Amino acid sequence: MKCPKCNSDFEHVNTPFGDVERCFSCKGLWLDMREHEDLKEIAEGVDTGDPDIGKQYNEIGDIYCAVCPNNKMIRMVDAEQPHIWFESCPTCYGRFYDAGELIDFSEHTIGDIIKKFTAKERN
Ligand SMILES: [Zn+2]
Ligand SMILES: [Zn+2]
Repeated sequence: MKCPKCNSDFEHVNTPFGDVERCFSCKGLWLDMREHEDLKEIAEGVDTGDPDIGKQYNEIGDIYCAVCPNNKMIRMVDAEQPHIWFESCPTCYGRFYDAGELIDFSEHTIGDIIKKFTAKERN
């Protein structure tokens, strides 16, 4: 398995929610279907890359799935945070997050909980 953005190898990162693949070079993350939901909780331990490098790789959207041969990934935008672009495979639902994106993603979740809580308080 090679990184779809920079063609380097991935390293296995063991987490309480299963193994994650992290690119040795660009530090992008490869997540299997639905893994991203659990990983938000431990984003800081997994998403250790430089967000500035992640931003450069974020410009590359034309990539093929690391798992399915010859399967083009689709660029997606997070519904709640439209500035987060990630790539998703329409077949295996694997996702690629550039360095810094998972942390960005997880921080919004905490903000969201606070927002919901505040809204509840007002009612
Ligand atoms: Zn890479
Ligand atoms: Zn795939």
